[in-house]
Amino acid sequence: MNGTGRDRSYSGTLNSSPSSRRPTLPRFNSFQAPYHRNRAMSIDETVAAVSNLAAYEEDVEALELPKGTSSRENLLPKMKETYQDLLKHIGEDPTRPGLINTPERAAKAMMFFTKGYDETIQDVLNDAIFDENHDQMVIIKDIEMFSMCEHHLVPFIGKVSVGYLPNQRVLGLSKIARIVEIYSRRLQVQERLTKQIAMAITEAVQPAGVGVVVEASHMCMVMRGVQKLNAKTITSTMLGVFREDQRTREEFLTLCRHSCGS
Ligand SMILES: [Zn+2]
Repeated sequence: MNGTGRDRSYSGTLNSSPSSRRPTLPRFNSFQAPYHRNRAMSIDETVAAVSNLAAYEEDVEALELPKGTSSRENLLPKMKETYQDLLKHIGEDPTRPGLINTPERAAKAMMFFTKGYDETIQDVLNDAIFDENHDQMVIIKDIEMFSMCEHHLVPFIGKVSVGYLPNQRVLGLSKIARIVEIYSRRLQVQERLTKQIAMAITEAVQPAGVGVVVEASHMCMVMRGVQKLNAKTITSTMLGVFREDQRTREEFLTLCRHSCGS
């Protein structure tokens, strides 16, 4: 983690007035891939590019989650009881003063940690896709991410960097952070989270390519198991030209690393 904790983007002019909309990408690398212009990568191509696709078929469908599950609030009393039981099972007395309100607080906290189940990508993308004659790489890096390991129900936290090469269409910059939020606020494994973010962006703007890198620290590793305080897990998904073209991929990774503090 670097100290700023802010999302940073290399395409900060995208949302300003039309006359100043040309990108101000730092030229670490002047390479431009002409072949990607005017050629959107279809969803099929993207899907074909994902290795081990079978393992992720259900994730593709997960992009179409049914809406309106916010009735989860009604489950709070049940969840509270469950946490009361849990306290008993670990040998505590749920009626002692210090714990009397804990089951309800814990239930609400768990609701918050998993609030991504209540949101859909479609909600987020409303009015956030712009036609833009922009064919330079867009990178948003160090998006803070808080998720829950589905194997141990403990947090894994870290940062996400996303890059894509637009093909006529760009995504509102804040929406990428929202996509990260929707998928991370669920029970997850880091590999799936990484792919879901990449595929959501692909589905939204059908870019020439997408790269996603997630770097996270898993409490199930830090607090138990190997107990390595600084162990980080890094996962990446590269689709389209990010996968096929080494220079595009390297440009993305170089921009990602730069000022990441590592
Ligand atoms: Zn775990």
